[in-house]
Amino acid sequence: MKVLTVVGARPQFVKAATVSRAFAALRPAVDEVIVHTGQHFDQNMSAVFFEEMRIPQPQYQLELGGLGHGAMTGRMIESIEEILQKEKPDWVLVYGDTNSTMAGALAAVKLHVPVAHVEAGLRSFNRAMPEEINRVVSDHVATLLFAPTEVAVRNLASEGIAGARVVRSGDVMYDAALFYSAMGSGQAVAALGLRPREYFLATIHRQENVDDPRRLETIVQALARCARELPVLLPVHPRTRKMLAHSGLDRLLQDERLRLVDPVGYLDMVQLEKDARVILTDSGGVQKEAYFFGVPCVTIRDETEWVELVECGANRLAPPGAVQTIVDAALAAMAARHQPVQGLYGEGLSADAIARALAAAA
Ligand code: UDP
Repeated sequence: MKVLTVVGARPQFVKAATVSRAFAALRPAVDEVIVHTGQHFDQNMSAVFFEEMRIPQPQYQLELGGLGHGAMTGRMIESIEEILQKEKPDWVLVYGDTNSTMAGALAAVKLHVPVAHVEAGLRSFNRAMPEEINRVVSDHVATLLFAPTEVAVRNLASEGIAGARVVRSGDVMYDAALFYSAMGSGQAVAALGLRPREYFLATIHRQENVDDPRRLETIVQALARCARELPVLLPVHPRTRKMLAHSGLDRLLQDERLRLVDPVGYLDMVQLEKDARVILTDSGGVQKEAYFFGVPCVTIRDETEWVELVECGANRLAPPGAVQTIVDAALAAMAARHQPVQGLYGEGLSADAIARALAAAA
């Protein structure tokens, strides 16, 4: 069986790393061809993940980063279609909710190649988010949908997608967190001059937060207030760095207690997450990793797809309308004693289950 995997953005490298390893274990029955669309292309947003997580090198590199949504998605569809005509895979496998996900799914379905979608059924119910459109379209054209949670299965059912097409697989990010957190050097926290449980870790990159100057300023001011309690480390996404410079807000971030660093590799990131006192983020993946490591989390957004984390008390939503909302949530999280809840995202064996389900369905 031949699977053509389409990846392009940071969170997809993390997800695909686990499933690629599971495919490798099924060789020669399964042959994986990887297409990298180039949506993320820097060393520290892309190459470091392939190196550290030992993801096989992509057979195709499309280099389609740095374009607007329309041009990027359109050119991806065109290029992926050509690759599909040449490779003739049994499945196209896509992950998550980026433009690369939707482009892979659309190129495949138009050529009648079945699509498998990992992380299916997630919904924010906010159609202003580009990710939400990518999710809905990908789910509706997929033949096989790997839903990480019970909530995701229900979301799909309410859109008429049910039955054997939908597999509750658990979350491959849990597999990744378990496997790769054992591989780090253990030096990341000390190397940044931080002490375990005595810092906030923050990541901000969602379009609705960084492209809106008022929201971005609110978030920066809230992080500056948090830094009066404990140092804040902000590994900064290229989109965020650009918008901070554009709006002049980077001047507020010169404080040694509020530190901007370049994005870090996954092995360092999981160490930084594990040892943080509280994680403040608008990332989907980072919210879950906080939970996996039992670290209280504040999600700086109006809503989250990972509602079960809010329901179980592991995560607090802090809409970025006012500085105080975020600061209050951060202080409450500092005082929280979060007990990890078992089983929400499977047992860390999701990637194997996905690889075997695809092989069986070919
Ligand atoms: N991540 C990383 N280094 C960083 C920031 C994030 O390795 O400096 C990892 C993080 O641990 C998670 C993934 O990138 O596994 C999440 O990606 P991102 O936040 O870009 O996307 P989202 O999950 O919101 O789709």
